[in-house]
Amino acid sequence: MAEPLVLVVEDNEHNLKLARDLLRFDGLRTAEARTAAEGIALAKEVAPDLVLMDLRLPDMDGIAALAVLRADPATAELPVVVVTSAAMIGDKERLLAAGFDAYIAKPIDGSSFAAELRELLSGSNVDGAG
Ligand code: MN
Repeated sequence: MAEPLVLVVEDNEHNLKLARDLLRFDGLRTAEARTAAEGIALAKEVAPDLVLMDLRLPDMDGIAALAVLRADPATAELPVVVVTSAAMIGDKERLLAAGFDAYIAKPIDGSSFAAELRELLSGSNVDGAG
């Protein structure tokens, strides 16, 4: 059985490479998009097991991109994890309320990133936002 496929939507090349390297090192498969529009199209095309969504993207923000995914039956049920450096207290709650399944803070912690995603993929730790 194929390893889970993670779609990484991230416009920063350094962050994209870091996520890709960590995921692949752990044996996960990756697909990549550098804009929200590309990510939305790819989500439909490749049907990933999980989406990692940057919050600040060149064409629209991650919350708007999430809304597009949720509005399309083909992608409505995808687990979408927001990855952002937003550090303000309350941001986590705000993002989960927006409908993200979980939140990972930047900078990515390389020692726990892949394990955290594995846990989310197994469904044991998905923070079901209301
Ligand atoms: Mn960005």
